[in-house]
Amino acid sequence: MNSSSNTKTIVFWLSIVLLGIMLWKLVSAGGPSSDGQKSSDWVLLLINGIPLLLLVGFCVFLMRQMKSASWRVAKIGSSKTRTGIGYDLHRLEEGRPLIVGGIELPFDKGPVGHSDGDVLAHAMCDALLGAAGLGDIGTHFPDTDPMWKGANSLVFLEHAKKLLDEKHFAIEHVDAVVITEKPKLGPHFPKMREALAKALGVGAEKIHLKAKTNEGVDAIGRGEAIAAHVVATLVSR
Ligand code: MG
Repeated sequence: MNSSSNTKTIVFWLSIVLLGIMLWKLVSAGGPSSDGQKSSDWVLLLINGIPLLLLVGFCVFLMRQMKSASWRVAKIGSSKTRTGIGYDLHRLEEGRPLIVGGIELPFDKGPVGHSDGDVLAHAMCDALLGAAGLGDIGTHFPDTDPMWKGANSLVFLEHAKKLLDEKHFAIEHVDAVVITEKPKLGPHFPKMREALAKALGVGAEKIHLKAKTNEGVDAIGRGEAIAAHVVATLVSR
């Protein structure tokens, strides 16, 4: 129970006690007082008026409490949780910068792509857009548009966040796996989470990153590609 509820509860019980006292006074006022004289008119008015005011106040209090409870139930009932999945893969070539999660990593290879080729940001964008039913990254940032050539992929996430806001969705959690044989990604995760969270306007605790290798199998295992899987959870506001 929060402080507001505590205050309301205290006010409620004080009202009950005062109401009891006033009713008792009202009943007492019907008979002779201890000194044998009737109460004066203004005392009688006060004795009759205060219980009435308290009763009205109590009814208003109850109505507000019921209205507030109904509103909370309606809000809980109407909230929706949505989940989206995103996947991306880019070929790696020597001499290109390796950008993952908005951070450039020291490595001799980097992704081939129209933008900066950030697989994690791209998969995350798809997961978020998918959860909100807003299409995919290609819908909003086609790789045929020269505007996005060499673009920082965090811009895509910032745009996705604006679209989510317009549809009244909040990011509850984003869970990601990045698959690459080299380099080691774990040491860079704190900076990646910080950059991704900033682009999405959420706390870094909502971004969870994991790294895997492909055990030397296939293109990823041979160091020819990098991939990412992302699951995003949204809640309606
Ligand atoms: Mg991509």
